[in-house]
Amino acid sequence: MDFRLTKEEELKKQEFEAFFEEEMKKAPPEFGNGGLEGVYATEEGFQFHKYMARKLGEKGWLSMGWPKQYGGQEASIMEQVIFDEVRGYYNAPGVDGFAVGMFAPTLLAGATEEQKQRLLPPIAKGEAFYCQGWSEPDAGSDLASLTTTAIREGDHYIVNGQKTWTTGGHKAEFMFLLARTDPESKRSKGLSVFHLRMDLPGVEVRPLLYMDGKHVYNEVFMNNVKIPAEDLIGVEGEGWNLTRQTMNFERSGAGGFSGAKRYLEKIIEYAKATNRNGKPISKDPNARRKIAEMFIASEVGRTLAYKIAWMHQKGDFMGLITAASESKLFSTESAQLMSNYATELMGPYGQLEGGEYAPLDGGMVELYQFIKGATIFAGTNEIQRNLIAWTGLGLPRLKFK
Ligand SMILES: Cc1cc2nc3c(=O)[nH]c(=O)nc-3n(C[C@H](O)[C@H](O)[C@H](O)COP(=O)(O)OP(=O)(O)OC[C@H]3O[C@@H](n4cnc5c(N)ncnc54)[C@H](O)[C@@H]3O)c2cc1C
Repeated sequence: MDFRLTKEEELKKQEFEAFFEEEMKKAPPEFGNGGLEGVYATEEGFQFHKYMARKLGEKGWLSMGWPKQYGGQEASIMEQVIFDEVRGYYNAPGVDGFAVGMFAPTLLAGATEEQKQRLLPPIAKGEAFYCQGWSEPDAGSDLASLTTTAIREGDHYIVNGQKTWTTGGHKAEFMFLLARTDPESKRSKGLSVFHLRMDLPGVEVRPLLYMDGKHVYNEVFMNNVKIPAEDLIGVEGEGWNLTRQTMNFERSGAGGFSGAKRYLEKIIEYAKATNRNGKPISKDPNARRKIAEMFIASEVGRTLAYKIAWMHQKGDFMGLITAASESKLFSTESAQLMSNYATELMGPYGQLEGGEYAPLDGGMVELYQFIKGATIFAGTNEIQRNLIAWTGLGLPRLKFK
């Protein structure tokens, strides 16, 4: 495999870099170290996310891989990977992972023509912001056991139930919702996907706050919410197949690794510039071993993301299920390793979130706290290991009662 970029790809990369270099100078202080907290925890951070989304929409970069008939550019997978890498490196907001990363590809895969024409353009322009309505208090890994119902009455569905852990639900205008349209059905049968407006009567969003009071996650209660029948996505009762496709979109992506690369560059700078026991930390053999391990992890992660792109290009969709799980597993565990090592290298200062003594503006301790959840969200890492065993290695499936 040749990892070098073509001349055209190199030029595209430079165009992306110039854009993010310039635009990220406009980030407000509230955006902080970025990520989900940068986007959702303050109004200023969210407004910057919206600003960037519109800018990216104008460039056509939110829909670059879509078919031309829906406003896309049919850009190659490699071009999309390069975009993700550069954006990840700059830690830039503007790509709503739920809208652009998950719901748009789901619409392209399973929506009616009318829905594609109606719902895709606002996503492409960076004007529609979504949240993900899957998990419930008693349905997480075992998502197929969910109990929220959506019962057809005339030209509407009446929705009742509760979703939890809804990231950004307090800022989103829409949710893609998974609900049971056949109340007699069991497990994955009788589930359907909906496009839900968050301002409909009966939708109540309650915050799930961090220990320090930050607001990123929510619970969403739905009490006799009337969704127009035209907002059922695809075929009634076939929502599980559609949702399984969405899961693979959720788990792939190159951005995370290039974000890690930038962090690593900063950690190396810090280790070179900071003395401990009379010599730079970078001269300490133990620190050097940790930095080398982090570097190897970030390079392996990058090649895993490239592997996913290559499989897309080949149309190897079965292989993609395993590759997406491998990538999710490896990226989240490497990020935990990185934040762990980095805060260790920084010693007691590594625990400081702010102030003049906080190394890297407290970015590493923030990552350390945030990244704990990453081995749980988007399907826990135990579930990813099961998928790799069953789908990738062909090992026998465990049967649960
Ligand atoms: C920070 C964060 C953000 C999130 N954002 C969203 C969101 O925006 N929208 C949304 O819908 N959901 C969201 N989630 C929910 C997330 O998808 C669930 O937390 C996740 O699927 C796990 O479900 P659970 O919490 O119910 O744990 P459980 O499913 O109860 O799992 C508990 C433990 O048992 C293990 N386990 C369960 N089943 C198996 C099995 N078959 N084999 C081996 N081990 C197993 C799990 O790995 C885990 O360690 C978010 C979660 C977090 C932490």
